[in-house]
Amino acid sequence: MMSDGSAIVIGGSLVGLMAARVLADYFEQVTIIERDRFPAGPEPRAGVPQARHLHVLLARGNQIMQRLFPGLDAELDAAGVSRVELGYDTAIYTRGGWGPRFHSGIFTRSISRALLEHTVRARLLAYGRVSILEGWQADGLIAHPDGLRVTGVTIQARGGSAETRTLDAALVVDASGRASRAPEWLQSLGYDAPQETIINAFLGYASRWYEKPAGFATFWKDLLIASLPPYNARGGGLWEVEDGRWVVTLAGANRDYPPTDEAGFMDFARSLPVPDLYDAIRQARPLGEIYGYRRTENRWRHYERLSRWPEGFAVLGDAACGFNPIYGQGMTVGALQVEMLESCLRTGDLPGVGWRFQKGMRAAVQAAWLMATGEDFRYPATEGGRPDLASRLVQRYVDRFQVLLADDTKMARAFLEVTNLMQPPESLFRPAFAWRVLRGGSLDGRRAAAHRAAG
Ligand SMILES: Cc1cc2nc3c(=O)[nH]c(=O)nc-3n(C[C@H](O)[C@H](O)[C@H](O)COP(=O)(O)OP(=O)(O)OC[C@H]3O[C@@H](n4cnc5c(N)ncnc54)[C@H](O)[C@@H]3O)c2cc1C
Repeated sequence: MMSDGSAIVIGGSLVGLMAARVLADYFEQVTIIERDRFPAGPEPRAGVPQARHLHVLLARGNQIMQRLFPGLDAELDAAGVSRVELGYDTAIYTRGGWGPRFHSGIFTRSISRALLEHTVRARLLAYGRVSILEGWQADGLIAHPDGLRVTGVTIQARGGSAETRTLDAALVVDASGRASRAPEWLQSLGYDAPQETIINAFLGYASRWYEKPAGFATFWKDLLIASLPPYNARGGGLWEVEDGRWVVTLAGANRDYPPTDEAGFMDFARSLPVPDLYDAIRQARPLGEIYGYRRTENRWRHYERLSRWPEGFAVLGDAACGFNPIYGQGMTVGALQVEMLESCLRTGDLPGVGWRFQKGMRAAVQAAWLMATGEDFRYPATEGGRPDLASRLVQRYVDRFQVLLADDTKMARAFLEVTNLMQPPESLFRPAFAWRVLRGGSLDGRRAAAHRAAG
């Protein structure tokens, strides 16, 4: 199906860019509306404040981006972005202790969020059919008089001018992030707003960038220290990104927010279950201030549950489902949704594409949602529900799994595949693993006791 019409994407962040790439195969013209003006280089900008914080690109997200943008891999090599083999170039500390060092064959990139978006945007704009209207904000949907079909958007200039315009489109895709106004826009057309599920572990971030010290020698490029709930709600990550910089994020759930002053930040780093991150940054030169962030709740707007939906409209990315960022899933789940949109475009008629996407979206987000919220439920202060018996049993299973994988690279690889959204969580329950896990209880008890002491 190739339409001679045009498509509009609201929001020019990563999900909007990926969506535009897919739409360019199906529409003559694709216009991205972005309220920010993009910086000339790979810098954070107002609409994506999270770019100042550690952004983990899961291996599945990396694969999808490479497929959508052929040549991206070579360009990242040329830009000096490290290719990272998970398990071999990474040091990951979890409730099971340090993971084993081994060749997993699972690769991703250790890259700043700003450079990733900058590079993807430049590659996208090489597609002649795509253009970006920068400095314009989408303000509402335009619909056919019968209200059954979205036919475009109204936009307003930012930065002092009161100029407004209308743009027509056969398909409007909302990728405007957590601040999306789609619920309100749907209501103004006579549709219901979606129900929302919000699960909040009250997690905060504090992040700082450093110059990697000359002569600093460890096997790892990326270091991750997971929190150990419920005993210890603190964790941290240090990623070596392009230009010899480290991006360091400290995170605390249960409202145990990491401070953004120098002394408090270092004290928090020192309080992590193992000293490696603190030892690294105390010898490193900071490259700027410490940035805080607290809007981290899991929020799923259930568009898939609505009984009516206008033709010509779709909502995806954080606008539909945002995650606690600590699990590094947002960009990758966005990429999975873009693949779902692509499959809806490939397999059916254009008017129904938005509704097919919305109905099918659950399949793209469900596994990540269960993993993120399942972990968040371990914190006593989490609001939005409690784990049922099945979830608690799964938590115990996963705890034991993490202990055992320290001595078992098959289990370690399987765990990486699941947390990187390459395999479904069920793959951890295959008989060979289940047998080991169910026999491993006493070991689990010893490690849990050690963590209680550390916490
Ligand atoms: C602190 C933090 C850390 C994170 N860490 C990770 C991580 O490690 N790994 C990971 O995969 N994900 C991470 N994420 C999530 C990730 O940033 C998002 O999932 C990702 O950016 C995709 O989101 P999006 O494109 O849907 O929306 P966003 O990135 O929020 O972008 C929305 C865009 O829409 C624009 N916009 C908004 N409203 C309008 C409007 N009305 N008109 C025009 N434009 C508009 C905004 O300016 C912005 O450019 C993190 C998020 C946070 C907050």
